[in-house]
Amino acid sequence: MAGRAARGRCWLLAALAGLGIAVGGCSAGADPTPEVTTRLVTPAGPPPTPTPPPGVSPTPLVPPELILSTLEVYQAGAVLVSVTGDVIGGQVEFLGRKYPLTRGSQSQYTFVPVDTEDPPGEHRLTVDVRMPNGTRGTLEATVTVLATRWTVGYLEFSPEQTAALLDPKVIAEELAMLRALYTKVTPVKLWNGPWLLPVQGALTARFGEQRSINGGPPGGHHGGTDIGAAEGTPVAATNSGTVVLARELKVRGNMVIIDHGGGLYSGYAHLRDIAVAEGDAVAAGQMVGTVGNTGLSTGAHLHWEMAAHGVLLDALRFTDGTNGF
Ligand SMILES: [Zn+2]
Repeated sequence: MAGRAARGRCWLLAALAGLGIAVGGCSAGADPTPEVTTRLVTPAGPPPTPTPPPGVSPTPLVPPELILSTLEVYQAGAVLVSVTGDVIGGQVEFLGRKYPLTRGSQSQYTFVPVDTEDPPGEHRLTVDVRMPNGTRGTLEATVTVLATRWTVGYLEFSPEQTAALLDPKVIAEELAMLRALYTKVTPVKLWNGPWLLPVQGALTARFGEQRSINGGPPGGHHGGTDIGAAEGTPVAATNSGTVVLARELKVRGNMVIIDHGGGLYSGYAHLRDIAVAEGDAVAAGQMVGTVGNTGLSTGAHLHWEMAAHGVLLDALRFTDGTNGF
């Protein structure tokens, strides 16, 4: 395979990455089943002592409880962090980055991303929470980041493609536009239930794959998961949300991006047709477009991106259970 461009790959050296392993198998995502509960380091304080109206006894607040989808997460994976109890807001800190909690149906939550280059090993995760009576507390856990072994792909591009589309400026501009979009946090939960594979087909390039272009040294990380399928095959939304981008891009071709709320997004690139418009609400499994070969692509395939708080993640880890949800 070395030196040959595999069919159905796209070239998105972009940046960040991960590695997709197992395909298939779905796991629920909605409000996670408590799997791990960590200790309350700074107790939320004694029960509130409001002065209720005469004859009415005060309702004690339910103390916060931290629930993590997993305590071991791979590079390019994500941990679903939830806090139950009478909590009105808060912030998670992990690996030096901070993420706001978003109100879910039964908890305050967020998806905490692990980047491709985040260091493996044990790291402290802390959550600062606020309660309705003004009390603040801190919850903490130790999360182990596991190393991912990246695959290497060998691609060839024609001089025309290299000249026109491998221009680093073109790539950088598109990436900057996407990063600006992916870092916005809509403070509402727009997803529900399990994450679906958008299309059935062969896995032609894993997330995080390093690329050797025209025989050059491997570098970068593929920013999505490539699934090969015939042109015109329907592409389904991996979960419900709001369409925030539905147009043609230079590198990713016709693209649709769905905001799932809370800083989590899914993207579908190289589409032949786009079936939704910006601003549309979409349901899980709803068709957003069809598989194509638009943009910088060497064969019909879907390039599927997932991003949490601006960090591109391995989409397959949302469907294979390795993130613990
Ligand atoms: Zn791709």
